[in-house]
Amino acid sequence: MALDLNKIKEKTILNSPTLVEYIMKTSAYPNEHQQMKEIRDATLEKYQHMSIMNASTDEAQFLSLLLKLMNAKNTLEIGVFTGYSLLATALALPDDGKVLAVDPDREAYEVGEPFIKKAGVDHKVDFVHGPAMPFLNDLISQGKEGIFDFAFVDADKENYINYHEPLLKLVKIGGVIAYDNTLWFGSVAYDSNDDIFNNDPIMGFIKKIGHGAIRDLNSFLATDPRIESTLLSIGDGVTLCRRKY
Ligand code: SAH
Ligand code: CA
Repeated sequence: MALDLNKIKEKTILNSPTLVEYIMKTSAYPNEHQQMKEIRDATLEKYQHMSIMNASTDEAQFLSLLLKLMNAKNTLEIGVFTGYSLLATALALPDDGKVLAVDPDREAYEVGEPFIKKAGVDHKVDFVHGPAMPFLNDLISQGKEGIFDFAFVDADKENYINYHEPLLKLVKIGGVIAYDNTLWFGSVAYDSNDDIFNNDPIMGFIKKIGHGAIRDLNSFLATDPRIESTLLSIGDGVTLCRRKY
């Protein structure tokens, strides 16, 4: 039997779908920027179940608030897809702020680009087409260490741990690195031998695409003395790491 990937949407980390709906209807959707909604709709139209790769609306609003509370001006985004979190970031930055974003998938970025323009914030966005690792190394060789206030990491989960070292150099002391999807549909609570991965085909699929990498990352971040971190249960889990020194 083919795997029904639409069912992946049911794997929210909040175990009450009623509560998820309540949060979205009461707090998130009424405050969603028009072009943010337009990106969400255009993504759903083109990518169907893959549209769950966009950050959730409540999470995007959390990031926006965080950026404003931090007075962030220069930020990085690793993993853009159709630009939902990118537009949230661009809208939250001051008029002379910049988000430097990288993704090897230009086609997906082009889905969101017209809405970023329509929202009038494209002057705050620099999109780099390509994989993140050489991009981060280039920034370091260009002497850009310590110039970023914030980095949002939402790309290939296996490489998060590799992005951590260059990002700790690029983000300034007191700056924040945010790793997305660190609860990985709730799967991180289970050891890779757990029966849940055999009994539930969607969980089996989730295990194959990054469960071990995220578990290793979570353990690593929790004991990394260079940061102060917290794993938040919003969206699919976001770990905030503040660079201490
Ligand atoms: N941040 C987006 C969602 C990103 S989805 C949002 O919330 O709307 C993950 C993205 O990571 C995909 O677009 C994929 O192309 C990108 N990605 C995968 N491997 C990557 C790599 N090595 N470097 C940068 N981006 C990568
Ligand atoms: Ca994500």
